[in-house]
Amino acid sequence: MKDTEITHQPSCEDELNIGLLSVAEAQARILDGVTAVTETETLPVRAALGRVLAEDVSSPIDVPSHTNSAMDGYAVRAADLPADGVAEFPVPGTSWAGRPWLTPIEPGQAVQIMTGGMMPEGADTVIMQEQVEREGDTVRIGTGHKPGQNVRAAGEDVATGATVFTAGKRLTSADIGVLASLGFAEVSVYRRPRVAFFSTGDELRGVGEPLGPGEIYDSNRYTLFAMLKRLDVEINDLGVVRDQRELIKQAFREAAASADAIITSGGVSVGEADFVKETLEALGSMSFWKIAMKPGRPVTYGHIDNAVFFGLPGNPVSVMVTFFQFVRAALLRMSGEVNPQPVYTVFARTTTALRKRPGRYEFQRGVLQQSAPGEFTVRSAGAQGSGILRSMSEANCFIMLEPDQAGIEAGQPVLVQPFQNLI
Ligand code: AMP
Ligand code: MG
Repeated sequence: MKDTEITHQPSCEDELNIGLLSVAEAQARILDGVTAVTETETLPVRAALGRVLAEDVSSPIDVPSHTNSAMDGYAVRAADLPADGVAEFPVPGTSWAGRPWLTPIEPGQAVQIMTGGMMPEGADTVIMQEQVEREGDTVRIGTGHKPGQNVRAAGEDVATGATVFTAGKRLTSADIGVLASLGFAEVSVYRRPRVAFFSTGDELRGVGEPLGPGEIYDSNRYTLFAMLKRLDVEINDLGVVRDQRELIKQAFREAAASADAIITSGGVSVGEADFVKETLEALGSMSFWKIAMKPGRPVTYGHIDNAVFFGLPGNPVSVMVTFFQFVRAALLRMSGEVNPQPVYTVFARTTTALRKRPGRYEFQRGVLQQSAPGEFTVRSAGAQGSGILRSMSEANCFIMLEPDQAGIEAGQPVLVQPFQNLI
């Protein structure tokens, strides 16, 4: 080769991405490699909001527990209702919610009944209060009523023994209410996955310390902490680890001893002393991928003992993108959740032109707005450099651009992944 030419190594400037792993393939491989925690704990029902059920729940009772009225009105036997004209019914008493009328109804009687009141034995139909005329101890009822109307049957919502929830469900506010409606005071949930994480880099300083020349504040540990907080996992922050073989090894060991998942940031780019990859290989098993995506191309993935390992890139935006696209789903699966709610995507018309070269999947930071009910526009959140965390702050969504897509003109529809309250 002439000494006037330079041989290029593969780099993130390349348009061809031979040998890069697709985003979907990386997501699938990661999910394949994680297992859910199996240990459980028993919690008071209220403390279980957002936790994942560890057992099937079947109902110990009928809900409702007794056949009752859906309206304020009068309980009668359908057979006594007039075929035409008006019939007069004596009213022997009232069935209140929680204070039932315990005497069986006799032919021709109407028992006054309140919403939720237990149906007197023998009655099968309720006539709304507004559709009768009450005179003293009698009530006048006309035609047009259906047998069985306005009655809620015992067990109509949930029958005794019916399976209400299956293990692996993440409990919502409604679920907490349902558990209470079945009389459960406690519930068995999986323990939270334990996640240990640390930053790597000689240039990193902690907040509160003065910055020396060439130093920067460690922000990744803060964004990671915050994103983990959203997922309701147990967090173990191991701080900043310097780029030294022995220190990194020590941090790995410490993390693996207690955690179900280990997350690091930095130290995986080309040209770095590759202590993260090296250590993972020495202590466990490693897959290193260059993923056909932007930002966040290099991701190290593997296992140490029973812990799953994610080596995320160092750039602050890359950390967030790779966490959201890869780590999040893995941690949800580890928590025992069987069908996590998908991160929804919507189409939105872009109001700004979007720059892109074909080749890699791009997650561009965007600002999504609802222009009319069910209609969305999106604009670029500005400069898309992987170190520009500010534009991530301004963004509320990723604009998802497929590998083969090129630049997009303003006015075109694009697929968008809103992440508000998820990141
Ligand atoms: P690296 O992957 O370690 O080469 O890091 C890539 C870029 O991200 C460099 O500019 C680092 O200074 C920066 N970086 C790495 N770790 C952090 C961190 N914890 N907080 C902020 N920036 C970081
Ligand atoms: Mg570094």
